[in-house]
Amino acid sequence: MAYRYPDTSVLYRKLDRPFPKVVRGEGSRLFDESGKDYLDGSGGAYVANLGHGVTEIVDHVAEQIRKVAYVNGMAFTNDAVEDLAAELKSLSVGDLDKFYFLTSGSDAVEAALKLARQYWVETGKPGKHKIIALSPGYHGNTMLALSASARQHYKVMFKEWLIPVVQVPAPYAYRCDCAGAPACPRCTGQLVEAAILAEGPETVAAFIGETVGGSSTGASVPRAEYWRAIRDACSKHGVLWIADEVLCGAGRTGTWTAVEQYGVVPDLMTMGKGISGGYAALSAVVASERILDPIARSSGSVIHAQTFTHTPMMCAAGLAAVRYIKKHDLIARSRTMGVRLHQLLDPIRRHPLVGDVRGRGLLAGIEFVADRDTKQPYPRKAKIAERVTDAALDAGLIVWPNVGQADGTVGDLVCLAPPFVVTEAEMDEMIARFHRALDVVFQSLS
Ligand code: PLP
Repeated sequence: MAYRYPDTSVLYRKLDRPFPKVVRGEGSRLFDESGKDYLDGSGGAYVANLGHGVTEIVDHVAEQIRKVAYVNGMAFTNDAVEDLAAELKSLSVGDLDKFYFLTSGSDAVEAALKLARQYWVETGKPGKHKIIALSPGYHGNTMLALSASARQHYKVMFKEWLIPVVQVPAPYAYRCDCAGAPACPRCTGQLVEAAILAEGPETVAAFIGETVGGSSTGASVPRAEYWRAIRDACSKHGVLWIADEVLCGAGRTGTWTAVEQYGVVPDLMTMGKGISGGYAALSAVVASERILDPIARSSGSVIHAQTFTHTPMMCAAGLAAVRYIKKHDLIARSRTMGVRLHQLLDPIRRHPLVGDVRGRGLLAGIEFVADRDTKQPYPRKAKIAERVTDAALDAGLIVWPNVGQADGTVGDLVCLAPPFVVTEAEMDEMIARFHRALDVVFQSLS
């Protein structure tokens, strides 16, 4: 039987193709019902950081559900949420030590942007409402998060429903024409301050950016000075800096937060994906008393009420995942296996499809170009990212594609983000399967 629209009662995410049915996961591998194995080279959508089938996490969640699965965050607290917040505090940066738990990255971004707005209204500056974000950049698919995202193909159909967000070119060295010039305003972060000044600081509520690029810029790593410049500009002009670490946080780039490698502290942070390793849907907004105290003294509540905030079941999954990471020293492993990943990917730079390889820790982006000298992307209709992803799946490797990063329409890349528990042999095999997929696609072009 083929699992595809309209043959079953599932409304699938794609209506034009069949889906293999996964029946089991173990470590870095998934198995479908035919017994075929897939190396999970991207942890799904950058989620399965701890690998699949970790019994002690499952047992911990089951134990919590047996005691109590759900209580409403409006009326009660519970052990799982208290313990998870305490664990996360021990890993957090600066004064960011208050955690509001939700179920998706989009939710967390919506809540963080609304919290920034709430802060300004409740501190007597209601004129501060504008949002500045980076392009390319992605923050989620609900309407405010989508407004802040620079992904045209997701936005175009809904443009009448989206709010205007000021977009500033993201730090994306491969596609910046500065050729590495030390004073490049884009690569040093100066463009963000220029945008704040152009809009009028008295109108700007928040700046949001992915600390290390995710899918949108294919793991582009901003320069060492970038986030210091953002910190300084936001502090100077009274703008709240929201670090979106939904994808790059939770150990993915070799430290718990990506921002700690830059030595600065944002005003708000969002986390998601890997914080529960996929054992439950979980995300978080991270704030400090500096931001929350004025709200506590004024309206007295975070105006982002949802049924599943702070619930025991999802927090138990997060708690077990964070404890597992600590117990097995998996952040250090993300760092060391990350070095190996980038070493193994180095020869792939010479593949005729590939223009650039970059990233940090266990996050890597591979960008495809038709002409390496001019960096000319393939035409969109060639669907290179999709074809590489399909060829990789045929070869038994899961990668994550993205398109449109070159100019909003064209541009193809895929990202690799293996579970932190990936073994050396599995990683070798991932790269071999990836190479095979690239060869298949390249041969199909000639
Ligand atoms: N922020 C970033 C940086 C992301 O990469 C994503 C999802 O890919 C989101 C937010 C939205 O997260 P979710 O898909 O869980 O809503």
